[in-house]
Amino acid sequence: MKVHLRTLGCRLNQAEIDRMARQFRQQGHEIVDDPASADWLVVNTCAVTGDAARSSRQLVRELNRAQPGGQIVVTGCYAHIAPAEIAVLPGVSSVVDNLHKDKLVETVTGHPVEPFDREPLERDDKRGAAGRTRAFIKVQDGCDNACTFCVTTVARGAGRSRALADVVNEIRHLHAIGCQEAVLTGVHLGSYGHDWGDRGGLVSLVRAILADTDLPRLRLSSLEPWDLSPEFFDLWEQPRLCRHLHLPLQSGCDATLKRMLRRTTQAQFRALVRAARERIPDVRITSDVIVGFPGETEDEFAISRAFIEEMDFAGLHVFRYSKRPGTAAARMRGHVPEAVKKTRAAQLLALADRGERRFNERFIGRTLPVLWEQVAGATEAGFVNVGYTDNYIRAFCIHPRALTDHITPARLSRREDGQMLAAPVLEAIEGR
Ligand code: SF4
Repeated sequence: MKVHLRTLGCRLNQAEIDRMARQFRQQGHEIVDDPASADWLVVNTCAVTGDAARSSRQLVRELNRAQPGGQIVVTGCYAHIAPAEIAVLPGVSSVVDNLHKDKLVETVTGHPVEPFDREPLERDDKRGAAGRTRAFIKVQDGCDNACTFCVTTVARGAGRSRALADVVNEIRHLHAIGCQEAVLTGVHLGSYGHDWGDRGGLVSLVRAILADTDLPRLRLSSLEPWDLSPEFFDLWEQPRLCRHLHLPLQSGCDATLKRMLRRTTQAQFRALVRAARERIPDVRITSDVIVGFPGETEDEFAISRAFIEEMDFAGLHVFRYSKRPGTAAARMRGHVPEAVKKTRAAQLLALADRGERRFNERFIGRTLPVLWEQVAGATEAGFVNVGYTDNYIRAFCIHPRALTDHITPARLSRREDGQMLAAPVLEAIEGR
């Protein structure tokens, strides 16, 4: 059978669709890029905002137009919270909620899925849906917190972790077929292992991956600030751990954080960021913030903005508050007009751009390890290679060789179109 896979939203959704791709291939099915040639079309939806839910519906309709005879299987957070709205869309043959998503391939094909510890090369296994150098690995799902704006905790249920050995095996498998970097993902990654009583579960997992695999680079996705003890930063004594922390703040105002039921304050967040910067040289700290949360006055926004400026993030995702069904915030008073949200978002996005530029330009003239991920084009002078440093600076170089899957030291020389021109250190490239 031919299978077309699509995902929206977060890295966790991406990790799940990549895993499904490997499972379908393992059963001998073909993953196709063109929906018009597919028998099955799987959509992993998102519901984090109203716009995300709208995009999910639009994608299902688009796929039905592209392949009227195909069977569309819809899963993900939107399918979980609004199955009836999905089931009536044209071409939808089944709706699989988040609690049954891990069995989706088995449900669709009727055949059980093998675990990942068999010899991969024998199966001529390929990496994720798009064969990337970097693999997203789902290690945890669900969340036991109750942030009042969040629909994810509604859509994904209680916190639960994958067995440590299962994760290590999957990473060994992916490295064996060429992956150079793994990104650990979850709904609430920092709570890994809490469901079996291990408050330091994530530390145990990272230590096990670094000890029991030869994977060159390990990256952590989003971490809630309250999960990180000062000892957590000891992990970065290991240079294979990428120096990038994504710490969602959501608001820089204590009064707003209280209404959001966020388990952090300005003072706690400031201390955490200071400790991280002291313990991890050149660490990139990025964040998420919401503007226009119910009750956010001009004064509260001004406090939030000033704190965000003080934190000097190297990147910021700015979300306009979106009323989500089933969340406590949806029932709150003081909803902020869209026009005001837009103005506030624009102010923070300008801050974010300056922060990112300031961080990246600190490294001009310095040499950092770059994982070259793809060839983005070619010129007379050579291939245009694109990749990322471990602290997530996007770099490009023009080189006679295609450097995909290689990690090389590279000297960053100047900024061009939002990325850094880099010169890879030649002798570091062997074999090609
Ligand atoms: S920690 Fe809060 S924002 Fe994050 S998934 Fe849980 S409830 Fe949602």
